[in-house]
Amino acid sequence: MLAKTHVVAGVFCMALAGHYLGYVPSGTELIVAGAAALLPDIDHPKSTLGRWLPGISGAIAKLFGHRGITHSLLAILALAYGLLQAQLADQAWVRAICIGALSHLAGDLLTPRGVPLLWPWRHRFSLPLLVTGSVVEKALLLAMVGGTFYLLGGQHTAIYRLIVRGAGHGLRELHSFHGVLLG
Ligand SMILES: [Zn+2]
Repeated sequence: MLAKTHVVAGVFCMALAGHYLGYVPSGTELIVAGAAALLPDIDHPKSTLGRWLPGISGAIAKLFGHRGITHSLLAILALAYGLLQAQLADQAWVRAICIGALSHLAGDLLTPRGVPLLWPWRHRFSLPLLVTGSVVEKALLLAMVGGTFYLLGGQHTAIYRLIVRGAGHGLRELHSFHGVLLG
């Protein structure tokens, strides 16, 4: 799954969680969830996060490989526990980080390669509904943008603009892909 789809999924899942918990998440929570949605791909040196932190990313990739430990529930639990114990983040932040990271696992779960959710058990769980970068992924991205609009009910217009810009990019690609299909 592409980085931009992961970010939009993180924001969407935070808005969805807020909806079920009965509140509208703050702009900070939405941004933290969107950013945290990139965390599991720290295990790939060419990912968005991996390019920012090549040393850490390279070491994790060497030790565990791509879509290894960082794509597991255990890693998210350990991260949440560590952040709370070290008092590096308050509960709202930790909740947003967990939601963002979980949305990443859910996204990768939809690809044929799947994710080792229950690492150290190596079994890869997969519900292969889309291929990374495919037209289905782009359609999902646009649907999540629409869902986020609906769930936030007119609040956080700055965040709307940001994700719409991302989605607009997706829409253009979708359009050109459609052109290729027709042409
Ligand atoms: Zn991933």
